[in-house]
Amino acid sequence: MVNTINAQRQTFNSQGAILSAIPSTIPNQIGSDDMGPLEGRLFTKMDPATGRALCQVARSSAADVDLAVGKAKAAQPAWAATTVVKRGDILRQIALLMREHRDAIAMLVSKETGKSKKDALGETDAAIEMGFFVAGEGRRFYGQTTTSAVPNKSAMVIRQPLGVAGLIIAANTPIANVAWKAFPALLCGNAAILKAAEDTPLSAWAFGVLARQAGVPDGVYTTLHGLGKEAGAPLVEHPDVAVISFTGSCEVGRWIAETAGRRLAKVCLELGGKNPLIVCDDADLQNAVTWTLGSAFSNAGQRCAAGSRIIVFDAVYDRFRNMLVDATKKLKVGAGDTDDYGPVINEEQMTNMLGAVERAKQSGAAVLTGGERLKGDRYGDGYFMAPTIVEPVDPNDEITRSELFGPITCLYRVKDFEEAIALANDSPFGLTAAIHTQNINRAMTFIGRIQSGVAVVNGGTYGSEPHMPFGGLRQSGNGWREAGTQALDVYSDLKTVYINHNPNLT
Ligand code: NAD
Repeated sequence: MVNTINAQRQTFNSQGAILSAIPSTIPNQIGSDDMGPLEGRLFTKMDPATGRALCQVARSSAADVDLAVGKAKAAQPAWAATTVVKRGDILRQIALLMREHRDAIAMLVSKETGKSKKDALGETDAAIEMGFFVAGEGRRFYGQTTTSAVPNKSAMVIRQPLGVAGLIIAANTPIANVAWKAFPALLCGNAAILKAAEDTPLSAWAFGVLARQAGVPDGVYTTLHGLGKEAGAPLVEHPDVAVISFTGSCEVGRWIAETAGRRLAKVCLELGGKNPLIVCDDADLQNAVTWTLGSAFSNAGQRCAAGSRIIVFDAVYDRFRNMLVDATKKLKVGAGDTDDYGPVINEEQMTNMLGAVERAKQSGAAVLTGGERLKGDRYGDGYFMAPTIVEPVDPNDEITRSELFGPITCLYRVKDFEEAIALANDSPFGLTAAIHTQNINRAMTFIGRIQSGVAVVNGGTYGSEPHMPFGGLRQSGNGWREAGTQALDVYSDLKTVYINHNPNLT
């Protein structure tokens, strides 16, 4: 086996690499080795801002997964035996290194997604903050102490690791997606294997480089690259992977739940959204427009928390629509720091967006602005789409019920609060929701009745903080929460402990 691996190993420059140089080929990082995939295959990663090839990437298969799981399984017990304070120290060191290399990481994120350096820096900072937050949990790592009905007996609950954690992520906010899973998985004493999103291999690779430099022991953290069915599926199916934490589409999430469920593995799913933002007749309309723009179009709408259903009271509908359309037409699309958002992640996504708009038009919807691919010198062959606002005809239209994950939002006219909340809740999803109102009673009623994992008053549908739990209902997830101390529940199991400390008197 070792010979085979050595024979297949390719030469990569990422050992102790300078992060600011993009390697021509992105390797897997298994144990202390940078490795080419065992079957020797690569795929081409495209630059979304130019439509041109950016680099080659390891195209892993079940054999690579098996190798990584074997190393992770061997390394995990020693990591679990390391105190959680020490594990937190090592994670803090990763966060410190990320801060030191903040610019380089943001450059990689910007290159692989096409988003501006400014946006990439914001996302990198959130990832670093997540590292510091989780590292601090190493000094708490609360379980529970409680009482017993029996004298001289103590009762408590402690956390224990699960073993090997399989982490599978989407490409939309890549370095944050890595941080949201890797930090808590490792703190809890698991060995973690991250299957990077095929569209964003660079930031995942950079995290792997820094994790090694920070002193994460060999085999405890692995980065694998490849396509979902070839590299992700074997991780889900592997009998030695105790927990799968997945961020991605409902379709793949459902398959993962079924497949891992068959062997009763723990599964955390963070899936899609079709998030409502309600604008009431007493809203500050300018503020509502500002937050609608951010919710609908920031990150090119590639957010699970994107505001894609804007529900507006009849009394202010026409005024709000005009203000929103005017503001949307002023948005600047491009990869620069003065632009409002960049390209979608790949050509397929571009085609999907245009197809969804076309089908909406055919079913009678009006496209108020946008709806097309942006062309011309500035855009070249990049995957840029104009900010698009659609007025669907029917709340049961495909464009209302399915997630698009692009810079497209829909406007709905409602009579009053009751109709607004009913429409907001009439969705296969339940991730985030927002309301704009100056009426505290309306705001509180909305918080109580909206069926979502996150509820926001007078703000956007997006914007999650590292110390706060994030997740959703229905097809948005399966009940677990990412980030916050709640993330520790995903990656640890609870052990109930009884101690009869004076058996003679118990
Ligand atoms: P996707 O499901 O196609 O891919 C996500 C990841 O899963 C990728 O790494 C991919 O390689 C992998 N994958 C694909 N098929 C697989 C399989 N059969 N087995 C194992 N892994 C497989 O999703 P996408 O289109 O890349 O991402 C967009 C989706 O992610 C949207 O639905 C969005 O809402 C969701 N998302 C959710 C959150 C959240 O926290 N709820 C955050 C970001 C994105």
